[in-house]
Amino acid sequence: MISNSGAPAAFRRGRFLIARRRGQSPRRRAPFINPSCTLSQTHRAPVFRITSFALPYNSGMNFITRRRALLSAFGVILIVLTAFFCCFFALGSAASQTQKPVVVLDAGHGGIDAGVRGTLTGVKESDLNLSFVRILQEKFEAAGFEAVLTRKTEAGLYGTTAPGHKKRDMAARAAIIEEAAPALVLSVHQNFFSDPARRGAQAFYLLGNASSKALACSLQSALNRMPECVKKTSPVAGDYFILKCSGAPSAIVECGFLSSPEDEQLLITQEYREKLASAILEGALTYLSSAS
Ligand SMILES: [Zn+2]
Repeated sequence: MISNSGAPAAFRRGRFLIARRRGQSPRRRAPFINPSCTLSQTHRAPVFRITSFALPYNSGMNFITRRRALLSAFGVILIVLTAFFCCFFALGSAASQTQKPVVVLDAGHGGIDAGVRGTLTGVKESDLNLSFVRILQEKFEAAGFEAVLTRKTEAGLYGTTAPGHKKRDMAARAAIIEEAAPALVLSVHQNFFSDPARRGAQAFYLLGNASSKALACSLQSALNRMPECVKKTSPVAGDYFILKCSGAPSAIVECGFLSSPEDEQLLITQEYREKLASAILEGALTYLSSAS
């Protein structure tokens, strides 16, 4: 606080007149005069002393005002934080509600591993697999899925061609499937058999796995409804690594026999691949609707 232990009015008037005679501008009247000032103090020049950092008659109010201001600020911060977290969790909840189911589409083989080859044209299984997966990707995405592809190019997933490439390739596929946390896994291949008369698309499932078997049965039913599928068949059980990479229902579809000239003639056309992919989508959707 700044206080003025100043002089009485008569003394100030004298100083005023002396100042005017000397041609000086008179000292302006101090805003505050201490009424307890005695005559003995009047002979001293006004002294300004800092006695406190806060005015005594204001200090109580300042403390209350500061406390209120702090409480108000704290309240505002609390409200802002609450609103922020409410919005954050509401958006998170909305996002989880609109999250699309994930389907992993695995194009078998790739790179130096071409798979089997067509006896008629020499077409590589790896190329046909990738083409099928691309078509399936479009169809599943149009049906509201998020499609994750293990292999997106003609290259394999093994990195280098050093020994052990097949093992590395399968490990990379397994990692992609695991990370995707899919609702469904479909692996696409082409078949081959010593008898060229053997034809048709066929689904494979993991032996002892009920969801894998149910999915394969639904896929096979849809494939058997295709007029081109002349030999109606049943899904086949087996121990397949790609079907054990997640807990999601998983199946392999062998789209046809590249050892059959008739099947190969169909498989090399985009039109047939589109048709067969539609049957796979239909089978998958039927399974998912029955399983939910
Ligand atoms: Zn294959």
